Amino acid sequence: MRGFVHDQPAVRVVFGAGVFDRLPEEVERLGATRVLVIASPGRRSAADDLARRLGPAAAGVFAEAAVHVPIEVVRAACETARRLEADCCVTIGGGSTIGLGKAIALERALMIVAVPTTYSGSEMTPIHGVTAAGVKTTGRDPRVLPKVVMYDPTLTVSLPRGISGPSGMNAIAHSVEALYAPDANPIVSLCAAEGIRALARALPIVVEQPANLEARADALYGAWLSGAALGATSMGLHHKLCHALGGAFHLPHADVHTVILPHATSFNGSAAPGAMRVVADSLGASDAAQGLYVLAVRIGAPTSLKEIGMPADGLDRAARLATEQPYANPRPIEYAGVRRLLDDAYRGIRPTVTSS
Ligand code: NAD
Repeated sequence: MRGFVHDQPAVRVVFGAGVFDRLPEEVERLGATRVLVIASPGRRSAADDLARRLGPAAAGVFAEAAVHVPIEVVRAACETARRLEADCCVTIGGGSTIGLGKAIALERALMIVAVPTTYSGSEMTPIHGVTAAGVKTTGRDPRVLPKVVMYDPTLTVSLPRGISGPSGMNAIAHSVEALYAPDANPIVSLCAAEGIRALARALPIVVEQPANLEARADALYGAWLSGAALGATSMGLHHKLCHALGGAFHLPHADVHTVILPHATSFNGSAAPGAMRVVADSLGASDAAQGLYVLAVRIGAPTSLKEIGMPADGLDRAARLATEQPYANPRPIEYAGVRRLLDDAYRGIRPTVTSS
């Protein structure tokens, strides 16, 4: 075995149906007394309910989280946190809400308790990002990692089929890229493989039986492990491409991941045969890229960039954006190959077989 470095983040995880009831205990355990509850506008009632449960420890609710964390929202949230003298924020929601919590934590050194209600995995990463003047700037900082993450599948029952499936594919993408990342290690690879296995098993059931708590719990478990894998490794072509597409063409985040993943996997396949074998085995498929495509079809998730609003005349620009900066990737990044990948993804064709 080659030598490696593994940084184990100190995040307390409280997992299981009904654990949300224990939120006040967890907040008290941290010594927090002025909690700011963060949510998106659509989850306002969940945030108000959470604040009621906290009783006197709740200082206020800020339910204006928005996708890609706009700087104006961060400023307003930080001002609210300052005015309320908050010492902790509890985020209830998906990656957008957790992203806002991270931005506040960075600015005001607040503790975070995350209650994730999608499968983005963001609660397990030190990756933060803010969008200013249309440009999203991301970074890594251990200070944005939640102190506590509470995974309660009962809170995800209301997550619609059209968000559940792509959100789970977003988490699978974290694991796929972690398996071939230059800074992967055996612990991360275990998390990634198990994350893919859990999500591949859970997602078809989640979309068919949204109230199935076993499957919802399995999906959260997979999201946790996949988020941890992403947090510990560098991102390759898949994430860079999704970042470029989402930023320049305002495509829905999880949908872009779902569409690109089989094609990015096919692109990298022959350059990372070991990782591809693990992905295929974890999916229970004979081929990694095709297995991912089949899973997306099975859960009724989008398979083409065209259907999620990508303009055909933007493909050249997207390929340029994804190839202008150098970054680590199993197969060297070059414009023509990435442009072909995008063309396949635009049309939503079944990817070619990747493994030998
Ligand atoms: P999201 O947070 O934008 O949520 C999508 C929608 O689902 C929202 O309308 C939200 O209100 C709704 N929703 C959430 N939970 C619900 C529930 N239980 N029931 C009903 N509706 C619910 O989407 P997302 O995919 O979770 O997150 C995407 C964002 O997260 C992007 O900005 C992405 O860049 C970021 N992200 C960051 C990381 C990281 O490590 N920093 C990782 C993955 C994603």
